[in-house]
Amino acid sequence: MSAPIPRGAPETPSRPDDRPPLDPAVLRGEFPLLAANPDFAYLDSAATTQKPGAVLDALDRFYRESNANVHRGLYPLAEKATAAYEGARGEVARFLGALAREVVWTRGTTESINLVAQSWGRASLGPGDAVLLTGMEHHAGLVPWQILAAERGFELRFLPFDARGELELERLEALFEDGRVRLVGVVHGSNVLGTINPVERIAAFAHERGALVLVDAAQTVPHRRVDVRSLGADFLAFSGHKAYGPTGIGVLWAREALLETMPPWQGGGDMILSVRLEKSTWNELPYKFEAGTPDIAGAVGLAAALRWLDSLGRDRIAEAERSLTAYAVGRLAAVEGLRLLGEPDERGPLAAFDLEGVHPHDVAQFLGKEGLAVRSGHHCAQPVHRELGLAASARASFAVHTTRDEIDRLAEALVRCRRYFS
Ligand code: PMP
Repeated sequence: MSAPIPRGAPETPSRPDDRPPLDPAVLRGEFPLLAANPDFAYLDSAATTQKPGAVLDALDRFYRESNANVHRGLYPLAEKATAAYEGARGEVARFLGALAREVVWTRGTTESINLVAQSWGRASLGPGDAVLLTGMEHHAGLVPWQILAAERGFELRFLPFDARGELELERLEALFEDGRVRLVGVVHGSNVLGTINPVERIAAFAHERGALVLVDAAQTVPHRRVDVRSLGADFLAFSGHKAYGPTGIGVLWAREALLETMPPWQGGGDMILSVRLEKSTWNELPYKFEAGTPDIAGAVGLAAALRWLDSLGRDRIAEAERSLTAYAVGRLAAVEGLRLLGEPDERGPLAAFDLEGVHPHDVAQFLGKEGLAVRSGHHCAQPVHRELGLAASARASFAVHTTRDEIDRLAEALVRCRRYFS
């Protein structure tokens, strides 16, 4: 039997945070990699974040002081490891306003969405059903459904976005009209357009029509308050490594009642109650979905990252990044020949762009030589780029340690870059 897990109390309502605004230059000092490279501007946090010392220390301390397998041993060290691992689950639950038994550890957003498709989707969807996705999904939000649709014979539908990068919500009525949509998959924050989608409104609309809602929160959990109940989600996925935690660990949250009805998707140790040669029975939630030895240290590291975020204050983070992003958008828009991809009303901390006459890879390489790390390519969102008439773009993305000085350096380097290549 697995150890009992703490039930994470739903998050306490936010109180106004009257501390002074966050200072990115000071926070930079908390990241050993950045502190060791004072002239390096890391502008690729949407791909993965740098790790604060608090997370590195938690990982190190776990391996030095608490390392053993979980849910198996009865000796004190194994109990300590299990307590750390399940304590981390409880912290994720609190962070999301959820219950600990609703938090399933995965490798990241991609695996979380595959879990929903292969477990809930495979058991629930067939000919005559439809899954509605948006035109701005990351490949992780698209391809698992394409694979399953080919096997189970259901239809995929798409909610398009407009020239500003906003979802065309007025089309929802027609897309739902025939009553076939069973699930809506929506990215909370687009990793290309920056758009923060109105998930609450979409969820209310879908629920009224009997559909479930899966939210890809990879680009929002690290940057703003995400509360699963107020969002109205049924499933929510995020990755630890984009939230200042380690790689290899992520979360699927789902409503308890849904998880209860879903079959396991991977078999092996720990997800079973009893095993006979021919047949087995399944463990209780959430272990039913966690076959094999998990990423124990990763869970502990992710909990440390969430604690660190909470110590800064999630509303303060959102405010600091909102102001930094507005500054960046202004500076970038003023660069001659630069076209920003998307002008959404509400933007997460990133800006993808096309620099006239310069290939995005050349942009990234040019900037890289100047100590500015930006991403180039399709950012795992090829359909978004196709819609915009581009094969690829460059993207600068920001974090709590991003300074206005780094944005100035970026804008100035882009002016030189265009001159160099023209
Ligand atoms: N969704 C979005 C919006 C993303 O930005 C990413 C990462 N680029 C993913 C899903 C996939 O995350 P991971 O690779 O950590 O599974």
